[in-house]
Amino acid sequence: MCDNILVAVRLRPLIEREITFGNPICWKVENNTVYQIDPQTKQISEHSSSVFKFDHVFDMKATNRDVYEKVTKPLVDSAVNGFNATIFAYGQTSSGKTHTMMGSKTERGVLELVVNEIFEAIESNPDREYLLRVSFIEIYQEQITDLLTGSTRLKVSDTHNEVVIKELSEEMCSTPDSVIDVMKKGEKLRHIACTNMNERSSRSHTIFRIIIESRSRCETGSDEIAIQLSSKSS
Ligand code: ADP
Ligand code: MG
Repeated sequence: MCDNILVAVRLRPLIEREITFGNPICWKVENNTVYQIDPQTKQISEHSSSVFKFDHVFDMKATNRDVYEKVTKPLVDSAVNGFNATIFAYGQTSSGKTHTMMGSKTERGVLELVVNEIFEAIESNPDREYLLRVSFIEIYQEQITDLLTGSTRLKVSDTHNEVVIKELSEEMCSTPDSVIDVMKKGEKLRHIACTNMNERSSRSHTIFRIIIESRSRCETGSDEIAIQLSSKSS
């Protein structure tokens, strides 16, 4: 349902090499709209082909936490309450996906903020027992690699209207740090496998999946909910 899909755009600040190269800023943000600036006249173009509206637009001053609070936090809340959710970061190489999802030395990424939020939600719900299972895959040239084991060419089956990756490994996690460790382990494996980062990164997708299994402390049986963090290219 379209109502349940939200599209947000983040415009990152110019990075060093772009400043050195003298790249101009060719856009202006107003509320949820991006206007292109004509490089010759330096004027905002009001032509419909130069005006782009989204559910949210984050300008150069936005932090990863701003993106998290506005866009992804509500998804975590619904995931903990029983709805599947996906956070999908899409953009060309160097547009800021890794910075946003994984963070930097000075700023935590959306993934870490999501993980902390899941554990906080678990702690505030003592009536239920939770178990988190995490998996991490890379899709590159239509082949699936398990980033937790290094197994390649995993097979996909789509019986009963459900897409399942066969023999995909999962790790049980009981603390935020253990989830982040799994992510780092997978990232490492991915980098070792790379021969040409640029060539590869612009063609690969990763999916980090957290399955939250929960059951009432006084009932038998459990519910499974997945939250997926996907990234097109590294
Ligand atoms: P991608 O993963 O999409 O290829 P990166 O996340 O690696 O792109 O970002 C490319 C460069 O831009 C990196 O040097 C990163 O540190 C920088 N960068 C990205 N987003 C921001 C931001 N919001 N603020 C400051 N620097 C950023
Ligand atoms: Mg990247």
